[in-house]
Amino acid sequence: MPELSPTWSLTSYFPAFDGPEYRKFLQQTTDDLNQAIADAQALAPLTANTILSWVAAFRTYEGIGARLGHLSSYLGCLGSADAANEAYQTADAELAGQWAQYSKLSTSLSAGFKAADDKTWTAFLQNEDLIDATFRVNRMRERAMFQMDLPAEALAADLGVDGIGAWGRLYDTVSGKMTFEMKWPDERTETTPMSQRRSLLTNRDRRVRETAFREGNKVWEAHEDIMGAALNAIAGTRHTLYGRRGQKHFLDAPFHDAAVSRHTVDAMFAAIDANIEVPRRLVKLNARLQGTTGIAWFDQDAPQLPDTLPELSWERAVEMCDQAFAGSYPKLRAYFQAMIEQRWVENERRPNKRAGAFATGSSIISEERIFMTFGGTMTDVTTLAHEVGHTWHSHLLNSLRPCAQNYPMTLAETASTFAESILADGLLANPDLTEDQRAFLLERSLAHAPAFLLDIPVRFKFESRFYEERQAGNVPVSRIKELMTATQREVFGDALLEDGVDPWFWASKLHFYITQLSFYNFPYTFGYLLSSALFQEFKREGESFLERYETFLGLTGRATCEEVVQQSLGRDIREEAFWAEAIQGLTPKIDAYAAAVEARLSS
Ligand SMILES: [Zn+2]
Repeated sequence: MPELSPTWSLTSYFPAFDGPEYRKFLQQTTDDLNQAIADAQALAPLTANTILSWVAAFRTYEGIGARLGHLSSYLGCLGSADAANEAYQTADAELAGQWAQYSKLSTSLSAGFKAADDKTWTAFLQNEDLIDATFRVNRMRERAMFQMDLPAEALAADLGVDGIGAWGRLYDTVSGKMTFEMKWPDERTETTPMSQRRSLLTNRDRRVRETAFREGNKVWEAHEDIMGAALNAIAGTRHTLYGRRGQKHFLDAPFHDAAVSRHTVDAMFAAIDANIEVPRRLVKLNARLQGTTGIAWFDQDAPQLPDTLPELSWERAVEMCDQAFAGSYPKLRAYFQAMIEQRWVENERRPNKRAGAFATGSSIISEERIFMTFGGTMTDVTTLAHEVGHTWHSHLLNSLRPCAQNYPMTLAETASTFAESILADGLLANPDLTEDQRAFLLERSLAHAPAFLLDIPVRFKFESRFYEERQAGNVPVSRIKELMTATQREVFGDALLEDGVDPWFWASKLHFYITQLSFYNFPYTFGYLLSSALFQEFKREGESFLERYETFLGLTGRATCEEVVQQSLGRDIREEAFWAEAIQGLTPKIDAYAAAVEARLSS
């Protein structure tokens, strides 16, 4: 294998940051945006006679969104890879201003859609320039049903730049610079960036995990007032806006964004509650392996069995994904190879990098990128496969118009989890595996079940309860911690040790601070279970299933979750039974893992 780069190339976005091409693009986009706002405000109401102008306005809006997305993706890449660079932060903050302008444009178009009578609306939808865009424009109209009048929405968008958006940026800046004093078992003390804590929590040595957890939490505790203020301000802003917009419940907006009905999400969580012993059983097996009766919060990402693989090189990680994809999904493999060759993956371990991993891309250049920090573990290999799933999904949508490439989070995580399953399955199919290796891989391939079926339900329930209480005013930090730990105990039950809770999880988890959307996490569980159901079908049917799978992915920006699944796979996800089946489908694998655990404990 040729030498692989640990850093990515971003030059196809722009030859250089703040260079002439960048400035020209930014200026042109800004000018077009301002013009479009003026034009939209001057538009005569949407009637049979003005349909063409409204269609043109929508197309302009769509094109500007793609260009802003291009800039956001670029600046997101730069800022994550060099968190200390203030020029990137400044540019990103300026771009937030453009997005605020853009949301005004969106609001003004939506208001026009809302004002049109149903007969005009039907004629509008039939315009041939709106092919594949009807889902999007219909949703804009639905959304407009819950909006304030235009000046009020414009003011909210302007204030949001220095309000809710600033709280989110403050969180990113403060957490990006955090370090903690890591005390290694050999007494060595090392100042460690907080971004590396996640990797330390996957360490084999329980003392390392516990120290990283406790020392890291001292720093979160020291910052808890800042984080508590940010969390309260973000939720408070949303409550105010929901109230003024006539939205009855704080989950209405996230569910609308997720293109899913409350009925479906309720069915999913009801199925999890009813089958909660399935993931708890898995956690208890892991606890037995480490010689405890339950796990602590910091044990969640622990490798349970000896990794007979030495610390992995990046080259080996790439090879593992490559082989697994080649075995069952050749088209995905070809795409992955092209990604690596074109240096679309940033993976280097170095300071001043933002924590976590993400996939991004731009419909302007039809390219994707992956950001991650590779620490040499199997978990990191899984992260790579996960993010490749995302970029593959985007790649399949590249040929569609921009607004049809925009899929909800609920359907985004299906592709990522599906790619992870292919990785796990490919690795498990290797006939040369020893018993130990097989047990290890089984455990790794099940490692997401507790995360999606216990950890995320904790986050969802916690966030719901927090938002509930925030309606009455500021929630003190002590109460936030109480809500957090009580929810952890309720969901994990006896699988969690008495002193195993994490009172600062709400602070350390950046997902609670994403200002563009709330309730970030439930789509992961949704995607995981939907993906498990799809993968179970793929195993039954074989390669011919992949065509339906790609149909499924291709529809994700053009219909609700319920419709996408119905149209591509013929299943009804509003039924609890669909989800229960997906959870119970994990049982054979857990049985195999339980047998491996028993064998190990008795040897
Ligand atoms: Zn993901």
